[in-house]
Amino acid sequence: MTTTSEIQATDSAHYMHPFTDHKGLAGKGARIITKADGIHIWDSENKKIFDAMSGLWCVNVGYGRQELVDAATKQMQELPYYNSFFQTTNVPAVKLAERIVGLAGDNFSHVFFSSSGSESNDTNIRMVRHYWATLGQPERKVIISRNNAYHGSTMAGASLGGMSGMHAQGGLPIPDIVHIEQPYHYGLAPTKDKDAFGLEAAGWLEAKILEIGADKVAAFIGEPVQGAGGVIIPPKTYWPEIQRICDKYGILLICDEVICGFGRLGKWFGSELLGAKPDLMTFAKGVTSGYLPLGGVVIGKRVADVLINQGGEFNHGYTYSGHPVACAVALANIDIIESEGLVDKVLKETGPYLAERYAELANHPLVGGAETCGLVAGFALMKDKVNHIPFDESLEVGMICRNHSFANGLIMRAVGDRMIIAPPLCITKAQIDEMMVLITETLDATL
Ligand code: PLP
Repeated sequence: MTTTSEIQATDSAHYMHPFTDHKGLAGKGARIITKADGIHIWDSENKKIFDAMSGLWCVNVGYGRQELVDAATKQMQELPYYNSFFQTTNVPAVKLAERIVGLAGDNFSHVFFSSSGSESNDTNIRMVRHYWATLGQPERKVIISRNNAYHGSTMAGASLGGMSGMHAQGGLPIPDIVHIEQPYHYGLAPTKDKDAFGLEAAGWLEAKILEIGADKVAAFIGEPVQGAGGVIIPPKTYWPEIQRICDKYGILLICDEVICGFGRLGKWFGSELLGAKPDLMTFAKGVTSGYLPLGGVVIGKRVADVLINQGGEFNHGYTYSGHPVACAVALANIDIIESEGLVDKVLKETGPYLAERYAELANHPLVGGAETCGLVAGFALMKDKVNHIPFDESLEVGMICRNHSFANGLIMRAVGDRMIIAPPLCITKAQIDEMMVLITETLDATL
């Protein structure tokens, strides 16, 4: 099994891929990625590809970082595994919890570890319901989320998420989770004043709380910037108003920082940039730059005090919670982010530069609603921009565009009618220029 076609044949015979239409893949075969360095990956035909998605929004410090390899090797030699169940702990997990709490700020005191974003959101559901039950309000169970939100692929993650395709498979979502509309200005109300729309969209949360009864609502969950839902950047009025509403009704606020956390928006956590003060934050991906699986929940003092002092044993945990090797890699990853000043660089240099370059894309006949926030960006592919008419088969057009980007040596993702990117945080201005040439060529090929 050495040639591309041999590997593809075995792949097709035995490997069932996530989020893949295998029938659609038949005949052409999966692209085999064999190596990576910096912001580039290579396939088995030795084609060099610009990875404008950082893998799956995770390889934030770029590929080929020897520091992370060394941290993993050293930890594997010293203590490759031990759990933190039943009154044990390990040093990398302790150090990482302290480090993350330090980055998250004064509102937070503890971290619960898992291996992924999905698992962490399962943890969130159990945590917020256990919190309210401990306070004598077990009927406070409902979690409000948003359409097109992505919170993971487990049953609980998919239920929290607002992806109808995921709800349709595998049975009904778990109960007591409801969804409101997303704050997508360009898609829902492009002619309205943006800030007024932000307040209106946050008002949908208040309306839902009143419909259900505040005494039944446990929490609201949202990604600061919705990622897999198409990089939906909310108006600046949105999150402060969401915060006000949560405070008014005493509802816990969970920010899913799996994409936005660890610097992608130009702050350590996206909620900080957008004006929310969550009680719980989900993280994964960027905490290790994807070099090893690790996720978790940063727990605010309000929740931690109740769970720790009154909640009894929390009957929940994963074999790999606080995995020492993953935690050691996360510590080394945070060292890189800090020593290279990547968070500030996104805020002050690369983020604003990407915004400037994306503004130019607005002139392209296919592009509507081009927007960036730090190092995430998206635009809609429009059939008729002047009259605001999207393509009838928007997903198909997105796929055509994505395929052109592949052919052109660029990884860009299609989500519905939107094309999105999230390049590594170590990207330079010159590399942004290189990426913009590839994006423009891709759009021209799609016309
Ligand atoms: N939450 C958000 C915001 C995500 O973007 C993702 C994955 O893309 C998840 C949760 C799920 O994370 P994982 O795939 O690590 O389970």
